[in-house]
Amino acid sequence: MGKRRKSRKRALLRPRKRIPKIFTCPNCGNTSVIVKPDRKGGMVRVVCGECGIGATYEENRSKQTVDYYNAFVDDYYSGRVPMGAKGASPGTEEVEEG
Ligand SMILES: [Zn+2]
Repeated sequence: MGKRRKSRKRALLRPRKRIPKIFTCPNCGNTSVIVKPDRKGGMVRVVCGECGIGATYEENRSKQTVDYYNAFVDDYYSGRVPMGAKGASPGTEEVEEG
């Protein structure tokens, strides 16, 4: 008795995840935070196009776009993200002399 073996072709499924590249800004609340690789390479810039706050992170292959954003939000609430040009930072007044 010959049993027929059905050879199943296993289709390699490539899960295509759409990773959003624009996130909500923790400072101004606008969906205008962009994660983009730095020109120099090896670095990733997270910057808000609305209020101007931003931070730079070392590029990590195991990290995804959203990971940089999370780090950015984390840093923001930790006070490690400097205010942008538009963003007013109460308390810290820089007096420029010259
Ligand atoms: Zn913003």
